[in-house]
Amino acid sequence: MSYEISRNIVKNELVDKIEELSGQNVFDCYQCGTCSAGCPVVEYMDIMPNQVMRLAQFGATEDLINSKTIWICSACLQCSTRCPKGIEVAKVMEALRSINLRKRVGTLDPNKIETEDLQDLPPIALVGAFRKLTG
Ligand code: SF4
Ligand code: SF4
Repeated sequence: MSYEISRNIVKNELVDKIEELSGQNVFDCYQCGTCSAGCPVVEYMDIMPNQVMRLAQFGATEDLINSKTIWICSACLQCSTRCPKGIEVAKVMEALRSINLRKRVGTLDPNKIETEDLQDLPPIALVGAFRKLTG
């Protein structure tokens, strides 16, 4: 007997929220792995992009919300352009970051940036990092 993961089986607040924020249907993913194969920062992730999609299908809230991957993702859109199912995986990553940020949970504390770094980094990099990583 085979079990197909579908929206009818997984009733989960996280799945609904991802769909609302990203506009993507995580159940469209058939785990081909193309997104992970082309991701330029996958080696730094604790969960690969295709695994993010699979965990989202299962509604594995804690694993996703607490993963390093959603912060490591550089939003380069490579995965979104290559997915054969047309899923914008980068938007799913963004949705997961947003769920954390809306709870004021971020991964960058501006007060902990070294003074030398503040002097060396271009302002646009700091603004981008604050917008993406600060809750
Ligand atoms: S490329 Fe698309 S279909 Fe393939 S694993 Fe990634 S999200 Fe799923
Ligand atoms: S958008 Fe994120 S997950 Fe997708 S390929 Fe780029 S870094 Fe990897």
